[in-house]
Amino acid sequence: MAWPELSWIERFAPSPTGPLHLGHAYSALTAWDRAVENGGEFLLRIEDIDQSRCRPEWEVQIFEDLEWLGIWWPKPVLRQSERSLVYQKKIEKLWQQHALFACSCSRKDILDAPQEGTPILGSDGVVYPGTCSANIASPGDVGIPKNTALRLNMSYASSIGYLKDGKNCFSFVETGCSPEGQTGLIEFSADEAIETIGDIVLARRDMGTSYHLSVVLDDAFQGVTHVTRGQDLFEATKIHVILQKLLGLPTPVYHHHALIRDENGKRLAKRDDARAISKYRAEGATPQDIRYMVGL
Ligand code: GLU
Repeated sequence: MAWPELSWIERFAPSPTGPLHLGHAYSALTAWDRAVENGGEFLLRIEDIDQSRCRPEWEVQIFEDLEWLGIWWPKPVLRQSERSLVYQKKIEKLWQQHALFACSCSRKDILDAPQEGTPILGSDGVVYPGTCSANIASPGDVGIPKNTALRLNMSYASSIGYLKDGKNCFSFVETGCSPEGQTGLIEFSADEAIETIGDIVLARRDMGTSYHLSVVLDDAFQGVTHVTRGQDLFEATKIHVILQKLLGLPTPVYHHHALIRDENGKRLAKRDDARAISKYRAEGATPQDIRYMVGL
């Protein structure tokens, strides 16, 4: 008898750039609990495209911390650093579709660009003012220029949503909530994406890919149906949904959870060693204590 197909696949996707802290424990345990409660599967993915910041010793510690928390995942683990060719192929395809353009602007160029009023701070940093947009490849252009970042032409990418009240729209299902409490069916328009996200970098000059492209390709490759992660990534989900449509990939159900904060209300960062899981472990805490600390 064949096993029924799993309809609930969660993942935890840390970058090995420092010790996991209570915020990571909350994310990983929430994803794990949801997978278990729904008879699904939990996957671990190591997001190590930025090799200048990732260290093997942090990866080892991630495995140790998660195992200690009582989490299990199928091995071998998927590492993004092993998937550069996949990312490169997609970039080439998007380039041929004229969905990308080369951009040699520095951060300073972008901030200093002539634009009306102050630069708009969007969900992915300052919205690109369009300085290099004229570089959009025209039919007949060949090869991707070397040593340059590639940006997504958002006007092109966001033209493929569905029509609602005469507007191009996109949507995803949110079972957690945004920092402002939005939940359920989240809809946004192409106009909003162009204004508040803009032409984001899809392939960094130094990496040939970006967090956004890799995360979308890998979630689809691993068959992830439910993404559980912190509310700091709620706005980035709009980018992910547009990319999924552009690349013909399914959109998972998203569950963004509140962030664990310190006593001053600041969200925890990797450098907050004081709240590292390994430190609590060394001090004799139990996994149950960690669950209690993060409110699970
Ligand atoms: N790799 C990201 C991080 O460590 C998480 C990405 C995601 O969950 O989509 O913050």
